[in-house]
Amino acid sequence: MSNFSSSRRRFLITAGASAASSILLKGCLGNPPDSITGRTTAQTVAPAKIDPAQAPETTKVKLGYIPIVEAAPLIIAKEKGFFDKYGMTDVDVSKQANWGSMRDNTEIGSAGGGVDGGQYQMPMPHLITEGIITKGNKPVPMFLLAQLITHGNGIALANKHKGKGIGTKLDQSKALFTQLKGANTPFTAAHTFPQVNQDFWLRYWLAASGIDPDTDIKLLTVPAAQTVANMKTGTMDAFSTGDPWPYRIVKDQIGFLATLTAEMWRNHPEEYLAIRADWVDKNPKATKAVLKGIMDAQQWLDNFDNRQEAAQILAGRNYFNLPAEVLMSPFQGKYNMGDGRVIDDKKLATYYWKDEKGSVSYPYKSHDLWFITESVRWGFMPKEMLGKAKEIIDKVNREDIWKEAAKEMGVAADDIPSSTSRGVEEFFDGIKFDPEKPEEYLKSLKIKRVQI
Ligand code: CA
Repeated sequence: MSNFSSSRRRFLITAGASAASSILLKGCLGNPPDSITGRTTAQTVAPAKIDPAQAPETTKVKLGYIPIVEAAPLIIAKEKGFFDKYGMTDVDVSKQANWGSMRDNTEIGSAGGGVDGGQYQMPMPHLITEGIITKGNKPVPMFLLAQLITHGNGIALANKHKGKGIGTKLDQSKALFTQLKGANTPFTAAHTFPQVNQDFWLRYWLAASGIDPDTDIKLLTVPAAQTVANMKTGTMDAFSTGDPWPYRIVKDQIGFLATLTAEMWRNHPEEYLAIRADWVDKNPKATKAVLKGIMDAQQWLDNFDNRQEAAQILAGRNYFNLPAEVLMSPFQGKYNMGDGRVIDDKKLATYYWKDEKGSVSYPYKSHDLWFITESVRWGFMPKEMLGKAKEIIDKVNREDIWKEAAKEMGVAADDIPSSTSRGVEEFFDGIKFDPEKPEEYLKSLKIKRVQI
């Protein structure tokens, strides 16, 4: 448990710094033109007649989000009337200052002025459920209900590293990391919250090329805005977050993109919808109504004809407050990486409902297991957690509710996965994760903090 309490302390330290620095955000990145950030007036769908057997127990729920492309299904479901369609007419989609606030507001719950659930990096719902990242390590049971998105994340590098061969693979630039470490000015990389997706993407990227993220570089938790400022002044080398931030780094000529997460792990699990278990247990029909609204929004978002409108809605002052054009990059899979590399590949765009491998929205238990295995890899969770993983995943992952909601709303049978496992996953460095054998995956990794 000592691991857990020390990580809890780190979380507390980073959470305090972030509120003040978020004020810097707009100043650093430039204010968007007024014409495209005004309150949007989206065409909404007409509310359908709700089957009385499916009528929600409440019309209200408060869902937190972070202004990155992962939040799109929440905002689109609200703005396009998809929540209304299923009787959820009072959904409060609430912007959170940072991930620490999201965690704290989840713990408080809507009754205490917080949230009932919303958007989470992984494995936040499991960490909150187990009380690993909550105050006083109090368990706050949560249910994972859907995946929100795949792709849409990247690793941005400061301009000073342009032309040094830093890409998805670092074979050509390994000497740079050694040299910086030797000069006592180690390569400094940041993520926005420790021990979740962004931290994992940075660690995987470095370790795949033989760079140890714990000893060869400096890895920090820094709020996005502060990271951008630090990259501008040259004190930060890299950072990992969701779009539009990596893209804005290029657009504002602060840096370039070394890699997209879509290049590191095609169709990878990213962020999820989760809601407190007490809310779900009290409101089972409303939970399914929320899920149906999200699924409708995800299908709407995956129609590329809707993506310009989606960008306009998300870019609005009441949501992301930035130029809509910056969102079209992840939406179309068109990335000017800023270092001479231009990507124009629709397959690398963000997907919300379906990708090449099947369902995006369905929360595969095998993906929860990868996040827990990766947590064990880096010593964020003790090795014994691997043995307990199934039990924790079965408790938190409610793919059964996803399936019920999908069936009730008439989702095609082909779009409802028959297995809770997506099977073997493969990463850019050829490493494979077989969810049947997580120990084998850990064995195959050279850099890790666990003895297997
Ligand atoms: Ca993300």
